[in-house]
Amino acid sequence: MHKTNMAAQAPAEPFYARNDESPDAASHFHQLLDDAIDQKVRTIHLQQETAFCRVRKRIKGKLDEARVDSPTLISELIAELEKISSSTFGTIDTLTFDVVHRNVECHIVCQSCPTTTGMALTLEINHPTNIPEILEQTTLKAESIDNIRQRLNSHTDGLTIVSSPSCDLLCDLYYPLLGELQTLDSRIVSFESSTRKHIPRVSQISVDHAHGMPVTDADHVFIDWQRSRDTTLLNTLLNQYSTATVFIQATNSASAIRQLTDLAISERQLATNLTTCIELDHAHLICPHCAEAHNPNGSEIRIMEQHRIKANSTLNYAPGCDRCNYTGIGEHRLLLSLCSASDAIRLSVETRSTDAIAKSFDSALKKQSIREQRKRLISAGQMNLQALK
Ligand SMILES: [Zn+2]
Repeated sequence: MHKTNMAAQAPAEPFYARNDESPDAASHFHQLLDDAIDQKVRTIHLQQETAFCRVRKRIKGKLDEARVDSPTLISELIAELEKISSSTFGTIDTLTFDVVHRNVECHIVCQSCPTTTGMALTLEINHPTNIPEILEQTTLKAESIDNIRQRLNSHTDGLTIVSSPSCDLLCDLYYPLLGELQTLDSRIVSFESSTRKHIPRVSQISVDHAHGMPVTDADHVFIDWQRSRDTTLLNTLLNQYSTATVFIQATNSASAIRQLTDLAISERQLATNLTTCIELDHAHLICPHCAEAHNPNGSEIRIMEQHRIKANSTLNYAPGCDRCNYTGIGEHRLLLSLCSASDAIRLSVETRSTDAIAKSFDSALKKQSIREQRKRLISAGQMNLQALK
């Protein structure tokens, strides 16, 4: 009977903060559309946990997570989506339909999949004012993310190893991958050296002898590289998360695998579970505004021959100008390689030889390896010869 009064006095509190009654699925859906339009959010990922539902979205490159106190939100939303679209989630578990919300035409793609704790639902909301949110905060381009995402989604289970010599690049990947990838419902495991990176709004746990085995719903399992030498712990962790993405700082995939076997992860288990290896690195292109061509000198020719770079390539040298703040460095480009684990790679992993593993990756990747990408940039005069590691 006090309803009218209470509504009039109630402050304009955030929708998700309300937990006094089971939220109405239709108004929930409208709220998600509001967010998509007002905050330019394109993808919203909902994951049902036992007592609540996680709602994750990326706003200007930052992951935003809210909890809705409802044990049945996703099933209610699914019923609502089926009602609006006059269709049902079939065997492919995708619904596509158009709605007009606040005079904005939205094209919506919904995907659902079962998880260990209930259901996960991903809504992709496209509308004219929503220019796909590029990850402004990161060096990763949206198409690279889509590439990685597509690749990861093609594997329903198994182990993905993401490696980079740059810890920052690895961290850049957390945001686009966490909360948006259904295959990553299984958590991200990362091995890092002494510095622990805090990822805002992502629940993290640290694993070491003091903490013991993690039994938690943390998104990110952080393993203290220095202290975790407990072989049982690491092996159990990988067994527990048979679908997992491991982030590890390493010069390349071969070195990442070698580091894992050195940490006493059994090479057989690694070889069996391995599905994809992703390598990331930066390329610092030389400034095109002050680039000057020069003919390679004797020692440069030797390096070029050694790496089989065409000897007639012209090298560029950038002394610096006001356009590059006198650094000679222009654009930073992301180098990325994706490799599915072949039988040859699995066999090489079992040998535990870094050289053999590196060779198997080279022959699988051919021109797509990061080294070959670097060589092409050097041949094109876009990068310094010194960038060859
Ligand atoms: Zn310059």
